[in-house]
Order: sequence, then C-alpha cells, then structure tokens
Amino acid sequence: MSVTVVKFGGSSLADAAQFQKVAAIVRADASRRYVVPSAPGKRCSGDRKVTDLLYASFDAVRAGEPFETAFAPVRERFDGIARELSLDVDLESEYRAIERGYADGSRDFAASRGEYLNGRLLAAYLGFPFVDAADVVFFDASGRLDETRTYAAIREMSQRLPQAVIPGFYGRGADGCVRTFSRGGSDISGAIVARGVGAALYENWTDVSGFSVADPRLVTNPRVIETISFAELRELSYMGATVLHEDSIFPVRAVGIPINIRNTNAPEDPGTRIVQASDAPIRTGKVTGVAGKRGFCVITIEKDMMNSEVGFTRKVLSVLERHNISYEHLPTGIDTLGIVLHAELLDGIEDQLLSEIQEAASPDHIEVVRNIALLAVVGRGMVRSKGIAARLLSAIAGADINIRMIDQGSSEMNIIIGVDEADFERAVRAVYVEFFVY
Ligand code: ASP
Repeated sequence: MSVTVVKFGGSSLADAAQFQKVAAIVRADASRRYVVPSAPGKRCSGDRKVTDLLYASFDAVRAGEPFETAFAPVRERFDGIARELSLDVDLESEYRAIERGYADGSRDFAASRGEYLNGRLLAAYLGFPFVDAADVVFFDASGRLDETRTYAAIREMSQRLPQAVIPGFYGRGADGCVRTFSRGGSDISGAIVARGVGAALYENWTDVSGFSVADPRLVTNPRVIETISFAELRELSYMGATVLHEDSIFPVRAVGIPINIRNTNAPEDPGTRIVQASDAPIRTGKVTGVAGKRGFCVITIEKDMMNSEVGFTRKVLSVLERHNISYEHLPTGIDTLGIVLHAELLDGIEDQLLSEIQEAASPDHIEVVRNIALLAVVGRGMVRSKGIAARLLSAIAGADINIRMIDQGSSEMNIIIGVDEADFERAVRAVYVEFFVY
C-alpha cells in the first residue's frame, strides 16, 4: 500500500478542537500512516506559540525562576488538550523529565519539548505508536543532517511499525544531545520522514489552502497555485513567499516525492502540489507567481572599457569575499556592474568596502543605491515564450514606477526587477493585475 507522510503545523494542533480535525484527516485515508506534528501554535491572534513559551521558560529558569512557575504556561496548554480529549498520558512524569533536562540541557532541548509532548498526545489520540525523533533523526558533528544514519533508522522504523507519530523540529546531535532545526523546522522533519519511509506523497497541513500567486497581504484574495515545480517554489520562497520552510524541499525533491500543501481547516480544498519539473504541465506564456522583498541595495560600479578589462569583476568580488559577503544578483552593462545585496550587510562597513573596491579595481565611479525592493516574476511557462517581459515592463511603467534593475535568470524561469522600496506594493499589484486578473 502506498504511504503518505502527513505533517501538521502548529495552528493545526493548537488545541483540542484542532486535534479532532487532524484525527479526522488522518483517518480519512489509510495511506496516511506516518504523522509528524509541530508544537501547538497560536489559538488566536495575540496568543503565543508553545515553542516561544518554551524558549522563554528556559531563559527564565536559567535566570533563577523556579521551574514550576516558568513552565506553567506550557503545562497549561498540554494539560488542557489532554483533559479535553480525555487522553491517558502520564504528563506529570514527562514534566519531571523536562525539569531535569532544563537543569542540564540546552535551549534546543527545551524548545524541542513542544513537538515531543504534542507527539505523545497525538499518538495517544490516534492510537499510533510514538517514535522519539531523537532516535531516528541524527545530526553530524558539523550540525548537518547525517543522512545515511537518519534514513537507515527511519527505514528500519517503518519496517517495524506500519504507523507512527514522529515529532518534528528536532533530532539527536553527534554529542548525543537533542538538537533542533531552525524555526519552522518541522517541515524539514516531515520531508525527511517522507524520504526515509519511501512515501509516495508528503502532505503538509497548515492553515492556508496552498501557495498564493501573490502575497495575500498585498493583493485581495489571490488565487491558489494548483501545481508548481520545486525550482519555481524555490524562487518564490527565496523572495519571501512563506508557507513552507525553505530547506524542506531538498530531502523530497532529490527522490521525486511530491509535496501537497493542504489546509486543516478546509480539508476539501486540493491545495498546492509541488512536483518535479517534468510532472508540472507547462502553461506556455503564463506566469506562476510573483513574490518580492524589501531591504536590498545595489553597489553600482562604472568604468570605461570595463567589458575588455580581463579580471575586473573578479577583483571587485574578491573584496566581497574577503568580507565574507554574499551577493544576490549581478546585473551588468558594457561599462557598468551592479552588485545587489541585502542592505544590512553593508551596515558599518560601507566606506571601508567601497575604498577597498576602489583600490582593487580602480573604477571611474562607485556608489551605493539603497532602499531597493526586488520582485521576482516566476513561471516555467515563461521559458522560450515571447512577450512576458514586455507585458511585465509595461505593467510597471503603466503604474508610473521607475525600474532600477532587471535581471532574467539564465533558466528563463524568472525575471527579477528592482524598484524603489516606496513603489514596492504598487509594483506587486501592477504585476498581479497584468498576469492574474482576467
Ligand atoms: N515549533 C517550531 C517553531 O515554532 C517548529 C515548527 O513549528 O515547525 O518554529
């Protein structure tokens, strides 16, 4: 029977009522056999995520507050879920073990207990075995996932257990202690479990019905993208579209397991499917989505005959390398070179950097243009299709916005434009209206 790994985010498991929805989803499809929960998230706006409560409680204990008072807000969340669902889980012993862990554990250990306890409760509620992520997800000495050991352990688990709940967000470090991924990392755990058990599908259940064609905070009711390739998703998430942790695509993409983003609060919605490019139908001439971010700057460098000076760009970039600065884009002209980077990277070192570039490459002119926002218009349907750039540029011009930079990725799958930050929202809306409002 094919296997689906289901990951539920924090809002999907924020309280007892959400647990009931989750159980109904798991039970509705027998292939949903391995479940990866996050810690309980916010129940309403203004509420706090359990992971945040855990970090705060650990810091408070370290600052001298008694465990019982510091941990009370966390305890209240889990006791409430267990009570409302009449779950027979010995939470008291778990809390005592956590108290001991706080005494000699790390902040990572504390943060991981949200997923751990939620996993315990969900396993009891579903009647599935519980598998501690620290026994199947391993990091190496440099803090990276130990793929060989992890996938072998998950495979072995799946041969032993036809169903299981495996908490997200953490694993075991090379020193034997609990380690977490970065925030939002349960998405990565779900992808790792999907690959380890050889799943046919990785379902990621959250509180939206998929990726929107544009940021819903900037345009009203944008449509949901039905199918998107991993490469397009990477472009859009890099540019700020946040539904899924950026790193979560790598484990599944490598072996071609599709991801389906679904909405726990609207399980009938099909959501967004993220698939290999070869499985994504190409809609020639169509754009898949638009995303963007503020906070960039451009170092603009001019020098006559730059095009014929061998090694010019290398000399400039070696200065950045010395300062351990990575750049985002490198638009060039015959006698000009632009280096687009995150503006905060220049804080405190701008003058020094410019004088080093001056010394290394002797440009005629160099300046930093700040307050730039970038917009990425992404779509596999743009490849070798005519007219998209023209439509994009005239939409921006039509909104009376000046374009500061244009960069088309060599894959022809994205066009990036830079505009003044003040024009950012209008630019996104103009692109949205041009490509998505028929
Ligand atoms: N609970 C963790 C966080 O809030 C991990 C996750 O939810 O994916 O970041």
